Amino acid sequence: MKFSKFGQKFTQPTGISQLMDDLGDALKSDQPVNMLGGGNPAKIDAVNELFLETYKALGVDNDADVPNSSAIISMANYSNPQGDAGFIDALVGFFNRHYDWNLTADNIALTNGSQNAFFYLFNLFGGAFTDEQNESVDKSILLPLTPEYIGYSDVHVEGQHFTAVLPHIDEVTHDGEAGFFKYRVDFDELENLPALKEGRIGAICCSRPTNPTGNVLTDNEMAHLSEIAARYDIPLIIDNAYGMPFPNIIYSDVNLNWDNNTILCFSLSKIGLPGMRTGIIVADAKVIEAVSAMNAVVNLAPTRFGAAIATPLVENDRIKQLSDNEIKPFYQQQAKTAVTLLKKELGDYPLVIHKPEGAIFLWLWFKDLPITTLELYETLKEKGTLIVPSEYFFPGVDVSDYQHAHECIRMSIAADEDTLAKGIAVIGEVVRKLYDEA
Ligand code: PLP
Repeated sequence: MKFSKFGQKFTQPTGISQLMDDLGDALKSDQPVNMLGGGNPAKIDAVNELFLETYKALGVDNDADVPNSSAIISMANYSNPQGDAGFIDALVGFFNRHYDWNLTADNIALTNGSQNAFFYLFNLFGGAFTDEQNESVDKSILLPLTPEYIGYSDVHVEGQHFTAVLPHIDEVTHDGEAGFFKYRVDFDELENLPALKEGRIGAICCSRPTNPTGNVLTDNEMAHLSEIAARYDIPLIIDNAYGMPFPNIIYSDVNLNWDNNTILCFSLSKIGLPGMRTGIIVADAKVIEAVSAMNAVVNLAPTRFGAAIATPLVENDRIKQLSDNEIKPFYQQQAKTAVTLLKKELGDYPLVIHKPEGAIFLWLWFKDLPITTLELYETLKEKGTLIVPSEYFFPGVDVSDYQHAHECIRMSIAADEDTLAKGIAVIGEVVRKLYDEA
């Protein structure tokens, strides 16, 4: 059987397929696995109880004997390609209540998870363009600060269209303790990129908080990026999968802004509903029209069940209360626990940790590790502990001569405390031995 070029591109092994396979295998395995590798959100009792209660209520919120419950309506009918109209209206009310954005229903579209949104957006703004002289121009997505989300890497229909900027690395303290660092955008490098000056950037994109590092770009960095995007007449895409107002896994004191040149991507996944595959795009009406047209071709209409569960929680703000009172404190505590365990295991070794500012991961840097973290990943996997090595998180960067990209790992903090402790103990034992024998 022969596959087209498209088929070959989308069937080759990728970082994301390896990660999803590891995750699936770990869940099926009868051997105990310390799963610190995936992006699955934690099981938080209060959160699951509310979702279950809402889910059950959807089936019985109709008049007796009439099959018109919210569950039936959302299962038995397509929405239009823009997405479930009731949920979109609830989101318009919610965002205008909490932010001063003056949105209308023309500013919101739904997708089947935000991964689906990035597939659309990166192909809309990256790839082959025709300029005013009718010449073909290849434009890329500018990632102002790599490491960035592994899931961006392979979404372009043809080739890979990224221009990435490597970070400034600052030593910082965290909770008054040394042993931490923070990435910052290298604006000198960014502003002088030939691709930016020559009109070969189609959009700027960053995740905030960032997967994999837990970094949160500061308000100043965001304002600067927004100004550059406006200056070059390209959109600024902000991947808010872990950001405010839901799931609000963000510990630094920052704000969220939107304007017509900003494309904000939200997701229901990290509040605890990844199986619902629901992504939300807030953008200028032209972008929403484009996304709706793509939804029609690729999906007919986005899935409605996540929308059905989230609509009442968005209408009555419980999604925000849940995020502020349960989800955020949970991950903040997990980050604290993980840092304490790591310092206990590796405090005397050259480990530095990215300052935990949000998201559901810690990003560990083993300075001058005698092996690459891809090799470390294999050793840890043999010992039943899964992490993700850093080299996958540099879309658009040739990492072959960038040592830092081979010295870090991403570790999920969503696991229960026992798994976290066992996994970190294995990491400690393996890494200590590597340094001791070097
Ligand atoms: N963006 C970031 C930064 C993520 O970490 C993820 C998932 O891990 C996604 C987007 C995609 O999430 P989903 O498609 O489940 O909304």
